[in-house]
Amino acid sequence: MQKASSPFVVLPQEVMDLPHPHEFFSDARRLEERLRQVVQGEIRFDEASRALYATDASNYRQVPIGLVVPRTIDDVIATVAACREFGAPVLSRGGGTSLAGQCCNVAVVLDFSKYLRNVTWLDPSRRLAHVEPGIVLDALRNEAEKHELTFAPDPATHSRCTLGGMIGNNSCGVHALMGGKTVDNIEELDILLYDGTRMTVGRTSEEELAAFCAIDTRNLSASVIPTSLAVSQATTSISFYPRTDSMWRVLS
Ligand SMILES: Cc1cc2nc3c(=O)[nH]c(=O)nc-3n(C[C@H](O)[C@H](O)[C@H](O)COP(=O)(O)OP(=O)(O)OC[C@H]3O[C@@H](n4cnc5c(N)ncnc54)[C@H](O)[C@@H]3O)c2cc1C
Repeated sequence: MQKASSPFVVLPQEVMDLPHPHEFFSDARRLEERLRQVVQGEIRFDEASRALYATDASNYRQVPIGLVVPRTIDDVIATVAACREFGAPVLSRGGGTSLAGQCCNVAVVLDFSKYLRNVTWLDPSRRLAHVEPGIVLDALRNEAEKHELTFAPDPATHSRCTLGGMIGNNSCGVHALMGGKTVDNIEELDILLYDGTRMTVGRTSEEELAAFCAIDTRNLSASVIPTSLAVSQATTSISFYPRTDSMWRVLS
């Protein structure tokens, strides 16, 4: 009888013995020490924590250099400064529900979801809220619904996904048909670049962006945002959401 072949790819031993990519970052210990000096939040460079953050909702696996759970925006700024000093890449993370490996890489992972999750203010008359990036979408929606408002983009992961992650992925959802994608519902972002620049950005036309990029060599439009940018606060406009039966029927 023919033996059934394994459904798994078995790698040759010499490939198994190769170092993992994170092992090429030789300054991990010194970076960890520096982070412990300058960050109030949690610094986790142990193997178990790094294993936990080696994946997201995708099939990708990359063991990170280490993990920082910032308590404040100052922690975020200090983390990026320390990583810059040691040449370590940084990667922001919210709920980690991304499906294409956006949240796993050989980097120092910043988990915004534990402490940076507050609504700073919510103004129903202007239909605006100011939030920290680690806030879970449902937490924002619960506050908004007290005023019969909601945030329209609603991925199926709405009880887990964060506003920071939604901005990173430009997330949608069934109600995005009514109120637009995440990009259509962001009024203003307070951003931090890898080089330490902190600035507030708002709605920008293609022409304005092209003009800005022409004088700024960092190529903000293409390369900075996914890897080196931490959204520290987001002012989100909350779309009005009339909760009628007909609306539910149309959308369901
Ligand atoms: C079962 C399932 C169903 C899903 N359904 C939908 C759906 O209906 N619609 C949809 O659009 N998506 C869907 N998704 C994808 C995913 O859930 C959404 O994109 C979600 O909004 C991601 O949020 P998050 O907080 O988990 O982001 P994460 O996965 O943590 O991060 C997403 C990206 O944002 C970046 N990021 C996170 N925080 C910050 C920050 N503070 N600053 C800068 N960058 C940051 C990350 O680096 C990453 O690139 C689904 C996923 C699953 C597993």
